[in-house]
Amino acid sequence: MAHAVVVGAGIGGLTAALALAHKGWEVTVLERAASVEPVGAGLAVAPNALRALDVIGAGDDVRKLSAIQGRGGVRLPDGRWLARTTAEDAAARYGDPIVLLTRAALVGILAGRLPQGALRVNRRVESVDPATGRVTVAGAAETIEADLVVAADGIRSRTRSALFPGHPAPVYTGVTSWRAIVPLPGVTGASETWGRGLVFGVMPLAGGQVYCYATAAVPAGLRAADERDELLRLFGRWHDPIPALLDAADPAAVLRHDIHSLDTPLPAFHIGRVALLGDAAHPMTPNLGQGACQAMEDAVVLAERVSPRGDLAAGLAVYSRERLARTTPIVRRSRSIGRLTRWRNPLAVALRDGAMRAAGRLGPDVASRQGDRVFAWSPRS
Ligand SMILES: Cc1cc2nc3c(=O)[nH]c(=O)nc-3n(C[C@H](O)[C@H](O)[C@H](O)COP(=O)(O)OP(=O)(O)OC[C@H]3O[C@@H](n4cnc5c(N)ncnc54)[C@H](O)[C@@H]3O)c2cc1C
Repeated sequence: MAHAVVVGAGIGGLTAALALAHKGWEVTVLERAASVEPVGAGLAVAPNALRALDVIGAGDDVRKLSAIQGRGGVRLPDGRWLARTTAEDAAARYGDPIVLLTRAALVGILAGRLPQGALRVNRRVESVDPATGRVTVAGAAETIEADLVVAADGIRSRTRSALFPGHPAPVYTGVTSWRAIVPLPGVTGASETWGRGLVFGVMPLAGGQVYCYATAAVPAGLRAADERDELLRLFGRWHDPIPALLDAADPAAVLRHDIHSLDTPLPAFHIGRVALLGDAAHPMTPNLGQGACQAMEDAVVLAERVSPRGDLAAGLAVYSRERLARTTPIVRRSRSIGRLTRWRNPLAVALRDGAMRAAGRLGPDVASRQGDRVFAWSPRS
C-alpha cells in the first residue's frame, strides 16, 4: 500500500492524515510533542472548513460540539455597534454559520478518527528528502520511507526552510495577541470590538465558556509579568461583558503570542515527494479566522489530487497550483485587515469606523458578499 508520512499533528496534519487514509493511503503521523493536546484556546470554524470536514466524515461531530456565533458584529469600546451580523444570515447564504469550539475539541475529534497506530508522538522530524521521500527522526536509528511526505509542521516549519532555503521567513506583523477560555455563563453573541490599535473578541462556546482574544499594536517580544493584568489595563474600561470576562479569567491560562505572517508567497507548495500545507505553507494573520480553515481545505484537496496509485508528480503540481491560487489572496486580505487594527491616529480611526458603520448600514447582504470568496468554497469548486 502507498505510504504517506505526515509531519505534525496539528489541525492541518490530522485532517490530511484522515483525508489520505480515506483515499486508501497507509498513513503515519509524526509529532514532536508528547501529545496532540493543543493550546487552550478556541477556534472559529467557517462554513468552508465545515465542508472540508464533511469530506472526511467529521463535519457533524464538529457541529454537535460547537456553539453558533449568534447575533453579533463589530463594536466600539463604549459598546455601540458598527455592524451587526447574525448566524442565520450566514447559514442561509452558506448552508452553515461560523461555529465556535475549543481547539482541544476539534483536535480530539480528528485524532480519535485516525487509524490505529497511525499517530506517533515524541517524534521530531529532522529532515525530509524530497527526491526519495526518506524521513529522518531525531534520535531514532531508523529512517522512514514514504511515497508522499506531508509537511504540516506549522509556522516555523523546518521543512519549508530546508526546501526553500532562500525564501523570506514569516515576519512580525506589528501585533501581539492574547487568548483565554473563560468560564462565564450567560454571554451570548460573538463580537469583535475595535479601538485605537486594540481589538477584543468575545466568542461564546458551548457549556458556559467564552473564548476571548485580544490584539494590540506593540513592538515584538514584549511580555508582562501578569498578562491578565495587562489585559485589564488595556481593556478593563471597555463595554460589558469584557471587564467581567477579564475578572473571571485565570491569569495562568492567558496565552500570549506575537503574530507573524508570510508576506512573500512560496513559489510552490510542493517539491519532489513533499507537499506543504497549513501554516507550513501559508502562515497568515488571524484577522479572517482562516488559518486553520485553510489548512483543512488544503488537506482534503491534497488527498483528492494525489491518488495512491496515480501520478504523484502531476497530482502534487495541481495541488500546488490550486492551493496557491486559493490561499494567496486570503493571506493578503487577512494581512490588510490586520493593518487596519493597528491604526491609532484618532482621525484615521474615526474614518475607519465610519466606513465600517456605513458598510454595516448597507445590510447583511453586502457584508456577506464580502465573505463569499472565502466562505462559499466547496471541495468541488
Ligand atoms: C491568535 C490566533 C487566533 C487564531 N484563530 C483562528 C480561528 O479562529 N480560525 C482559524 O481557522 N484559524 C485561526 N488561527 C490560525 C490557526 O491557529 C493556524 O492557522 C492553525 O493552527 C495551523 O495549523 P497547522 O496544523 O498548519 O499548524 P500547527 O497547529 O502549528 O501544527 C504544527 C504541528 O507540527 C508539529 N511539529 C513542528 N515541527 C515538527 C517536527 N520537526 N517534527 C514533528 N512535528 C513537528 C508541532 O508540534 C505541531 O503539533 C489563529 C491563530 C492565532 C495566532
